[in-house]
Amino acid sequence: MSDEHELDDDHFHDECGVVAVYGHPEAANLAYLGLHALQHRGQESAGIATIDNGRLHVHRAMGLVQEIFTPAAIATLPGAIAIGHVRYSTAGGSHIRNAQPFAVEHGGAPLACAHNGNLTNTDALRAELDAAGAIFQTSSDTEIFLHLVARAPRGPVEERVATALRKTKGAFSAVFLVGDALVAVRDPHGFRPLSLGILNRAYVVASEPTAFDLITAEFVRDIDPGEMLVVDGSGVRSFRPFEPAPARFCVFEHVYFARPDSVLGGRAVYDTRKRLGAVLARVQPVEADVVIPVPDSGVASAIGYAEAAKLPFEMGLIRSHYVGRTFIEPSQSIRHFGVRLKLNPVRSVIQGKRVIVVDDSIVRGTTSRKIVKMLRDAGAREVHLRISSPPTRWPCFYGIDTPTRRELIAANHTTDEIARYVTSDSLAYLPVEGLREAVGYPTGDGFCEACFTGDYPVDVIPAERLSRGP
Ligand code: SF4
Repeated sequence: MSDEHELDDDHFHDECGVVAVYGHPEAANLAYLGLHALQHRGQESAGIATIDNGRLHVHRAMGLVQEIFTPAAIATLPGAIAIGHVRYSTAGGSHIRNAQPFAVEHGGAPLACAHNGNLTNTDALRAELDAAGAIFQTSSDTEIFLHLVARAPRGPVEERVATALRKTKGAFSAVFLVGDALVAVRDPHGFRPLSLGILNRAYVVASEPTAFDLITAEFVRDIDPGEMLVVDGSGVRSFRPFEPAPARFCVFEHVYFARPDSVLGGRAVYDTRKRLGAVLARVQPVEADVVIPVPDSGVASAIGYAEAAKLPFEMGLIRSHYVGRTFIEPSQSIRHFGVRLKLNPVRSVIQGKRVIVVDDSIVRGTTSRKIVKMLRDAGAREVHLRISSPPTRWPCFYGIDTPTRRELIAANHTTDEIARYVTSDSLAYLPVEGLREAVGYPTGDGFCEACFTGDYPVDVIPAERLSRGP
């Protein structure tokens, strides 16, 4: 576990966000602003690739978007077409080599890709490409896309990209630059989001439509699962190049990953989170004096919980927004330093109270334990932990960096055992039916919920799945 994980180890981490701009003289600048709005989806590295007069320009670096894209850096990215990427990575994969977009010249034309998601047949594809003489520079599955497109038979852009992507399995919301065309595509299940917007006569694509707000682009629509858009001099064309498959949008986007001001699949994330809290209050009530969130991700569901339980909502924990990833701990002797850097209790809200604290998920349990201790130290009489999603028992293979089953506390322990570990007076999760009710898919259709149920929509390698078992 890396240091930065230690500061936030009770949450899953998304791996990526993507943006694209077509037909705007300040394409790199708009991509930069779009990435800034998607920074929550990845803070490890960022990059932008542009095309200008048939030439490719790329800038990628480790760090935050605003640190990387100085005016001088943006000045090296001319052209009216851009794609961009923010990345979160596991410690092992944290290297500039793996920063996206990946960009090459192929057959005298630019070819670049930025990808959110994870392929599940990476090993097989890599072995096949290796045997055919491909040379890989990175350990990222995104590079496979470039090799597959490069090897696809000559022909229209849509056919080349479709031929390449039909060989892949798993999750991708991806943007490509192929020659002077932009391609935006979602896998047939549509695990990860991707939206189309318009700004004057320029087209923009982003993982979340909130990215459009900052650049005053207008949201046009979500790109459908299995849909491929090709944007070129003749406008936008839509293709459906894959076998139809049931939609399986990642429900965790609603629970935690997406920004609360995003609208995904027609559902306002903020409203959905409030409903998660309201249903949680109904099915997991407890006598208490005040409801507080674990900020920021628990805020909307705590408001929903408090409203439904007719209890006061207070900000009993204050989050510092200025914690850098490379903060040096002054001394190991300061206990719980990592979590104290991020969160501090408001004693006047908590002292002498029976406190309900609402969080979106528990991954390893270590941060929850520290938060409960912090609240007790601040004088809470009772601490009741309420989680606005079901227990996370299974790892994600579709683009979210999750720990192994061994490390997922709910994979190995009952709720009572977890409550004892985190030292809360009570602990309760939202059941899967409650999640479906709040998000609005009562039959279970339309969403992936595999990290709660283990019901994986796209096969994962059985051996890997077992090796991740407790
Ligand atoms: Fe989302 Fe969980 Fe499915 Fe991964 S396994 S796509 S985190 S719902």
